[in-house]
Amino acid sequence: MRIHELAKSLNIDSKELIEKLKAINFPVKSHMSTVDEETAEIIRHEIEDLKKKEIESNVVEVEFPISVKDLAVKLNQKSSDILKFLLQQGKFYTINQNIDEDLARQIAYHYKVNLKRKPSYEEEIFSLKIDEKEKEKRAPVVTLMGHIDHGKTSILDYIRKSKIAEQETGGITQHIGAYRVVLPKGSITFLDTPGHETFTAMRARGADITDIVILVVAADEGIKPQTVEAIDHARQAKVPIIVAINKIDKENANIDLVKQQLSKYGLVPEDWGGNTITVGVSAKTGKGMDDLLDMILLQAELMDLKASYKAPLIGVVIEAKLSKGRGPLATVLVQQGILKKGDMCVCGLYWGKIRALYDDRGRLIEEALPSYPVEVIGLNGVPNPADKIFVVPDEKMARQIVEKKKEEEKLKERKTTVHLKLEDLYKRKQEGQKQLRIVLKADVGGSLEAIEEALKKLSTSEVEVQFIHLGVGAISFSDVLLAEVSDAVIVGFRVETDGQAKEAAKTKGIEIRVYHIIYELIDDIKSAMEGLLAPQVRKVFLGRAKVKKVFKLSKDIVVAGCVVEKGKILRTGFVQLIRDNQQIFEGKITSLKRFKDDVREVNEGLECGISIGYADIKEGDYIDVFSEEVITRKLGD
Ligand code: GDP
Repeated sequence: MRIHELAKSLNIDSKELIEKLKAINFPVKSHMSTVDEETAEIIRHEIEDLKKKEIESNVVEVEFPISVKDLAVKLNQKSSDILKFLLQQGKFYTINQNIDEDLARQIAYHYKVNLKRKPSYEEEIFSLKIDEKEKEKRAPVVTLMGHIDHGKTSILDYIRKSKIAEQETGGITQHIGAYRVVLPKGSITFLDTPGHETFTAMRARGADITDIVILVVAADEGIKPQTVEAIDHARQAKVPIIVAINKIDKENANIDLVKQQLSKYGLVPEDWGGNTITVGVSAKTGKGMDDLLDMILLQAELMDLKASYKAPLIGVVIEAKLSKGRGPLATVLVQQGILKKGDMCVCGLYWGKIRALYDDRGRLIEEALPSYPVEVIGLNGVPNPADKIFVVPDEKMARQIVEKKKEEEKLKERKTTVHLKLEDLYKRKQEGQKQLRIVLKADVGGSLEAIEEALKKLSTSEVEVQFIHLGVGAISFSDVLLAEVSDAVIVGFRVETDGQAKEAAKTKGIEIRVYHIIYELIDDIKSAMEGLLAPQVRKVFLGRAKVKKVFKLSKDIVVAGCVVEKGKILRTGFVQLIRDNQQIFEGKITSLKRFKDDVREVNEGLECGISIGYADIKEGDYIDVFSEEVITRKLGD
């Protein structure tokens, strides 16, 4: 191949190619010099590499989202050329329209520019490195979880009433989504909405605010399905668990049984030689509550929870609503810095000057410190739980930031996050994914264990099967949330998927696969790990015809004169030729006739002529007909 031909295939000038080759110690004399195919391939590679390096070093910093017009300026191109480029890809844009980051990068790459994201004000604030020395102690943030009716609300109420009323005569607590108790040894912030669903929903939206989980287990009932769920949700979040064994006042309370059960789930109590703190409590009598609070503070001490009080304010919304009299109200948990009255803030897609701050007892306060929950008034809209709040210098900046965020939000809406699908596992594996995370639900404990064992054995050095949650019963909303935060697939065995879970899985793009045969389940997971998972094809039996007579029209064309014994025969069907109960041939019907006419289908009891592209048909054979449906496995099927 001549150099000028090679240059053409690389989309560069011959001269430029010769220069480049010189630079990589590959001198050639002229554009008429020839190279063999192998060398050409090496050169192609080298040039592509060089191109990549050139682009990578040609960095231009931009803020996202960016409009076509602004991108054109940054790339030193005409807007019309960029629009043309987009059009060639079948994308219609106008000059002032914003494009998302991926697309902007593609365009830039075309013009040999590497776009670097200029961090937004918000990103800068949230990624600010803070000197450890500047940080001070902060209170732990605690969430209660456990099975329904095991006493989460009662414990929260008991602590609220006893500990807050103790210090504040007549102090009435307000439900603002969280409250703080101040004890001689330190304070604790309790999140008021117990349960693992809220916990994980917040996490799914990027807000990991809980430091310690209190797992509530009723001493008279022991570990129940939702207790197991709670354990798995807390584990997935890597949050330490303290177990409150509640209802110890009850006659049939059996603390030891609970401890034994806990051990089975890997929470071995300290007094049994493990390292899980367990405390027996009663929300009815108050017994053990002080111990529980002590243990929370002890655990917090071990975790050395700290935050800077001087750094710019960062917080997260726990709850928000519209109040008739006071306008948008948001309960914010301060995570860093101090939130003060009069601060100009951006919160989610809203902004505003904080007009008033209320604490959990409804008292007006001037400022809120790290780990304080506080209700704020002054935002110009109702933010969503898990939205971030931060301070900005002035109103102009607040407006600008919110405008940009809204634009980004719009662009994001067009794209949904991609979660793992079994079919993509192999691709992910090649990209270095080492784990296949599974939420497994089965109809009974026995099959759950059998499947767990079988799937565990599939782990290889390259991909490890990891169970995020194992449970008996229908696939629930909480399973979907858990799969979302852990990028897992949900596998069900003989279980239903409840409506809310189906809906959520669809919108969040979480894969749910339900099986009725164990080996099919295991085969699929195995195939996925090997990259061999084919789209599932389901054969649906349509009918059976018996061959009465065989007509040889030519060497290759044979028509089987048949009678339809069962069901019906479809012209478009797939066939299996069966002789003595053995399948001899598999293929498609090539022609189907009634007398001389081509027909689309023939019903039971009627005679017909069938050709199947196979000559060796004998009298007495059976032709079974199927329709083949490719199952694009529907979520929740
Ligand atoms: P949650 O669903 O986990 O929030 O449970 P609740 O706090 O609503 O409690 C469920 C039921 O258990 C209520 O009837 C409570 O009165 C009762 N309960 C909660 N804690 C205790 C306790 O320590 N002792 C007794 N005897 N009953 C309790």
